[in-house]
Amino acid sequence: MGKNFDAVVFDYGGVMITSITNKFVPLAERAGTSVELIREVVMGPLGISTNHPWHCAERGEIPLEQIQAGLQPYADEYSIELFGDEIETVYSNTQSGLTKPYTIIKPMIEKAIEVQIKGFSIALLTNLFTEFYPTVKKELADVNFDAWVASSEEGTRKPETEIYKRTEELLQVKGERILFLDDFEPNLFAAQEVGWSTIQVTDPLDAMKKLDNELS
Ligand SMILES: [Mg+2]
Repeated sequence: MGKNFDAVVFDYGGVMITSITNKFVPLAERAGTSVELIREVVMGPLGISTNHPWHCAERGEIPLEQIQAGLQPYADEYSIELFGDEIETVYSNTQSGLTKPYTIIKPMIEKAIEVQIKGFSIALLTNLFTEFYPTVKKELADVNFDAWVASSEEGTRKPETEIYKRTEELLQVKGERILFLDDFEPNLFAAQEVGWSTIQVTDPLDAMKKLDNELS
């Protein structure tokens, strides 16, 4: 067992499944704007927590179906025209008619199981709408996480300090003993602020190698 850590915490989007960011390309093209701007209008400002409806839904304060109606002021700010189906498009399966808007990264799921067998506690830490939690639980049913930390259940989201503290509490592990994998830098910085060690996941296979090194 590695000397430095007692627990490994895994993000979901971009770590256990592929990122949904590519869904913004057609939306940006249609609106005649950049991916960055349409993404900010739809998902709120990056790297901070605000009262943007997407952030509110991630904290479980409003249902998913209320996000779209709240986007107009953000679109107005950048003079971007909305078509009313932006939220639906981000999560739609219609591009191929069959597939989900993301793919499950099976090796990472297997890695989480392996890490737990080696004796580390494992947790899931995800910014997640209430509506998607049952799907995520089903997809990750093979993983017996010691703690499931979903923002909409906890009423706090990454990168808010509170959700990291909540994870420590649920795991009963101090921040200094936690290693965290996330694809989004601001979430990692916030974790480092409370003493966690981090691995940024850009290429999952590469991140798994880093994880092995850290735990050996
Ligand atoms: Mg992520």
